[in-house]
Amino acid sequence: MYQIKLYNTATRTVEPVETHEPGKLTFYTCGPTVYHYAHIGNLRTYIMEDVLQKLFELAGYEVKRAMNITDVGHLTSDADTGADKMLEGAKREGKTAMEIADFYTKAFFADCEKLNIKKPEIVVPATDCIKEFIDLIQVLFDKGFAYMAGGNVYFDTSKAKDYYRLTGHNAEDLMVGVRDDVTEDANKRNRSDFVLWFTTSKFGEQELRWDSPWGYGYPGWHIECSAISMKYLGEYLDIHAGGVDNIFPHHTNEIAQSEAALGHEWCRHWFHPRHLNDKSGKMSKSKGGILTVSVLEEKGYDPLAYRFFCLQSHYMKQLVFSYETLDNASAAYAKLLSRVAAIKAAAEKEGGAADPEKVNEYKEKFIETVGNDLNTSLGITLLYEVLKADLNAATKLEIIALYDSVLSLGLIREEAATPPADDTAHLEALLVKRAEAKKNRDWATADAIRDEVKAAGYMIVDTPEGAKLKKL
Ligand code: AMP
Ligand code: ZN
Repeated sequence: MYQIKLYNTATRTVEPVETHEPGKLTFYTCGPTVYHYAHIGNLRTYIMEDVLQKLFELAGYEVKRAMNITDVGHLTSDADTGADKMLEGAKREGKTAMEIADFYTKAFFADCEKLNIKKPEIVVPATDCIKEFIDLIQVLFDKGFAYMAGGNVYFDTSKAKDYYRLTGHNAEDLMVGVRDDVTEDANKRNRSDFVLWFTTSKFGEQELRWDSPWGYGYPGWHIECSAISMKYLGEYLDIHAGGVDNIFPHHTNEIAQSEAALGHEWCRHWFHPRHLNDKSGKMSKSKGGILTVSVLEEKGYDPLAYRFFCLQSHYMKQLVFSYETLDNASAAYAKLLSRVAAIKAAAEKEGGAADPEKVNEYKEKFIETVGNDLNTSLGITLLYEVLKADLNAATKLEIIALYDSVLSLGLIREEAATPPADDTAHLEALLVKRAEAKKNRDWATADAIRDEVKAAGYMIVDTPEGAKLKKL
């Protein structure tokens, strides 16, 4: 069995992922809050989780992966204040929270499909598991970790073992940066306590409520991931994933309540890809003007070029998005596709067989390379090495297919890459105008030209030799 090494937030080191059962991996992913479209930052996180799952599969593990869909309980502030995000979405669009959840869940998976992100085997909306949340909260009550105050049920973090250990900070550090105007919840025994179940709350409009031993109400956000993970993946979890913003308080709280209920360590390995930001700072769904996969498509980009862009960087590094860098990735991606198409054509023409020893040698190299803290960019370098290696075309093609079972860049296509047609003189003239506009930092004109070219059926890819047209 191959070993995969990964940075573990809990130990702050890159270490081998030791699964609870040999050869089997249980993997939990925090799913989207479905009150809006996922932005391409959210999707960076899901791309990296997808590559991780597929790498384990290539390495021979049986992966069981579960993901929740947050359709209740996630408030606009992670510190239990503000309104429920679903309610905000419903108000914004004049729909019910469930209609919003249904629409944006479908939109999320449609985006995932475009990015070749495989849907986890188990996907569970939080509202389907209310009984499990109540049962788990009851266990916490019975074991003395939960208390009722002011109508809500809270988790007592002073009773948790080493509550801050995932963050590597202490309470004082984490309070730095907390705004002075954040009103403290006077019901809490400790500042870091969090709500397990809301009953009386200031959100009288909350649509979704259920009966519970503590009154009519709704669950807090954190309890859903612990309960769903335990229900579908059991008492021992191998990897838990989520964006870096989930470390505190979400995952910190998940650990506290899960270990309190179970009485033993719950999850060994914590995987937290860093954020994708734009030049103005963090991308966020609540900021408006969300950068989605559809926006990229409207601008003429292949969604898989965005996946390629993400894989070129290490997941532990923050990534800054700009159209210039995406253009470069698009150009490299288009070239890669045509090189693979040429190998495919050669394999069909030559008709030879693949060399199984070479295929295995390159497979092992890939698992070792990418399996060293999910080094996707070195994985791509290895792919380029295969393209120019001294191997027959059939062998190359088989290795490429193996690598692409993890990278999922849609490298081997049925159709051949089409070169631009001849009747593009007027579009070529637009490229010159666009280059001028870009030089003058006139992004509006450059964007307008991109749209015009797209309307004519071409996308613009920037290459070191200048902009080129690619048929859509
Ligand atoms: P949400 O839908 O807000 O619950 O977030 C879905 C996932 O995206 C979570 O794992 C977040 O941690 C992650 N996420 C949020 N913002 C970003 C970002 N700018 N870049 C990468 N991942 C993000
Ligand atoms: Zn979660």
